[in-house]
Amino acid sequence: MDNFPGSGKITHSFFHKPRGAGKFLLQMRVLRVALEVPVAKLFDYLCDDTLPAEAGDRVVVAFGARERVGVVVEVGDGSVVASARLKPVTRVLADAPRLSPEWLEQMRFLSTYYQRPLGETVAGSLPPRLRSLKPLPKKRKLAQEEGAPERFVAGPAPNAAQTEAIEKVAAVLGTFRPFLLHGVTGSGKTEVYLRLIARAVASGRQALALVPEIGLTPQLEARFRQAFPGARISVLHSALEDTARTHAWLDAARGEAHIVLGTRLAVLTPMPRLGLVVVDEEHDPSFKQQEGLRYSGRDAAIQRAKLAGCPVVLGTATPSLETWQNARAGRYELLTLPERAVPGARLPAVRTVDLRTEIVEHGLAKTVLEAIRTRLARGEQSLVFINRRGYAPVLACEACGWAAGCQRCSARLVLHASDQRLRCHHCGAEEAIPRACPTCGNVDLKPLGRGTQRVEETLAGLFPAARILRIDRDNSRKRGELARTLEGIGRGEGDILVGTQLLAKGHDFPNLTLVCVLNADSSLLSTDYRSAERLFATLAQVGGRSGRREQPGEVLVQTRFPGHPMYQALLRHDYAGFAASQLAEREDAGFPPFVFEAALRAEATELAVTMAFLRAAARLLPTPDGVRIYDPVPHVITRRAGYERAQLVVQSHSRPVLQAFLAEWNAALPATAPGGLRWHLDVDPIEFD
Ligand code: ADP
Ligand code: ZN
Ligand code: ZN
Repeated sequence: MDNFPGSGKITHSFFHKPRGAGKFLLQMRVLRVALEVPVAKLFDYLCDDTLPAEAGDRVVVAFGARERVGVVVEVGDGSVVASARLKPVTRVLADAPRLSPEWLEQMRFLSTYYQRPLGETVAGSLPPRLRSLKPLPKKRKLAQEEGAPERFVAGPAPNAAQTEAIEKVAAVLGTFRPFLLHGVTGSGKTEVYLRLIARAVASGRQALALVPEIGLTPQLEARFRQAFPGARISVLHSALEDTARTHAWLDAARGEAHIVLGTRLAVLTPMPRLGLVVVDEEHDPSFKQQEGLRYSGRDAAIQRAKLAGCPVVLGTATPSLETWQNARAGRYELLTLPERAVPGARLPAVRTVDLRTEIVEHGLAKTVLEAIRTRLARGEQSLVFINRRGYAPVLACEACGWAAGCQRCSARLVLHASDQRLRCHHCGAEEAIPRACPTCGNVDLKPLGRGTQRVEETLAGLFPAARILRIDRDNSRKRGELARTLEGIGRGEGDILVGTQLLAKGHDFPNLTLVCVLNADSSLLSTDYRSAERLFATLAQVGGRSGRREQPGEVLVQTRFPGHPMYQALLRHDYAGFAASQLAEREDAGFPPFVFEAALRAEATELAVTMAFLRAAARLLPTPDGVRIYDPVPHVITRRAGYERAQLVVQSHSRPVLQAFLAEWNAALPATAPGGLRWHLDVDPIEFD
């Protein structure tokens, strides 16, 4: 069995015998300390009986001219450094619980698997406050109502499919077992999570629930608090301010929080009594961290459940193909919720609208406009989905063909009409809209294509009496703003909603009965082999927002390719059929999940430098049997923020073979990298743009 990242062997070396340890063997205890410095090693310090420190303790040490907080990862009695040159630790911190062997084991695993130094992995996994010299905030008093975690305000009585799912998982609380809960949108997956969490908490365990992005799902947090009025719930995500995050982390680490609800980083929180792990929307790409320790929060959750010896439930309407393949192969147990849970609620009717034959007005087909008009007359809400913010993706001169481009990226600037600016969505650069074409002087510059702002403008012109709400990153920057807007929509505010991906996630809008999808084809034409999988998931998600109560929902997808198998599967709500055809293609083409991959990415100010490094990297070590190294290729958007980017992919059918090669390669690469070039390894990469 080799499902995650994880199920492979974990080497326990409580103390790595350093080379030549015999010669330098010391009698004093040596602490190997993880520090947040970009050096691929641990640092040795001494301690004696007056300062007893153990693995997992946070310690203050002198480092250069400064003091720093580090974590003791190992304790031994020898060092490769001569004893006279080792410094004693300054202080052992006892203001937070000692980090457990299980937590250290998780860090070791992540460090090895994702090819990141252990010191950085450990330091980067703690909230900033825990690795600073600033004292921790005073312990919070338990609120009176936080003392009765077993109180559970149950939702609707579970139906047969929910009951079966609940009982199957509940039967193995106390054992590691991965489950895939495959339930269509609105099938009552959240109810299943809540009931399972209630069981785990009632038996004295802690539960961990991971969600893609918490700001997008304020309703979910409210539902948790409602269901567990007597429980202490730690909410954890990166946008929390320092003190709140520290409290939430400490509550979890002390075993006082009964439930931890958070984004991917919550999987790194110590939980001494962990008894259940839930990953909602497991397919969501935002579970993958795209910088530093490039871990998959979902895969780390499985590994975490394994270490804790508890079940893990991955829930989604559209599983990632990796997860689906694991379920098909019997490595994950499949639980299915085939129907919507609310009695009488049906999955929406999905139809394509053929752009080749329809009359189209400002990018909106006649059928779509008619459907919106009908909803307005009935007092129901419509959602127009377009995954592109701004007014228009291109500002061009029709006289000479000039188009506004970013100075620092090989990308076009996006026109933002609300504040009359041109913005680069890749590096954030912005400039004023030129009065005339800088090439030929033509003053009649044209916006081409459309984004949310332009669609909003068009709809306002066509339906002057309708209340139109636009929801995208541009008008949801302030904390809490998005949550308020979403709540308002739930109460029926807004007749027509125009929005991006932000509107697709698990919201429950009772009065929404129509979803119109614009511009979906552009993803179909992408070169990324994951684009069809992503688009299917997005459309099923966004379509799933409609008709969640008694009124039936309708989804209209504007396309030039109505016969495309992806759209055909979507019309039939046939995830399984779609997945089967995708998996067959992936197997033929030799793509994941049938092979394991890593990407070596590099960037430098000149493309020749980037490419030369990658070519040298490919030849650096003899390629072992079972490993395939592909030629380096520049990214589609080659230049970003002034750097020329390229990558190469390494594949193997065997995870251990790939891992062994990566470890050796990662150690050898720094010597090959010229100054000014930045590079990193991404294990199980999911973005190739
Ligand atoms: P999902 O997480 O699968 O999208 P939810 O758990 O949010 O689904 O449930 C969707 C809706 O169905 C919610 O309004 C919920 O209260 C309701 N619901 C869930 N289970 C049942 C049930 N067994 N009977 C009636 N309604 C239910
Ligand atoms: Zn021009
Ligand atoms: Zn740019």
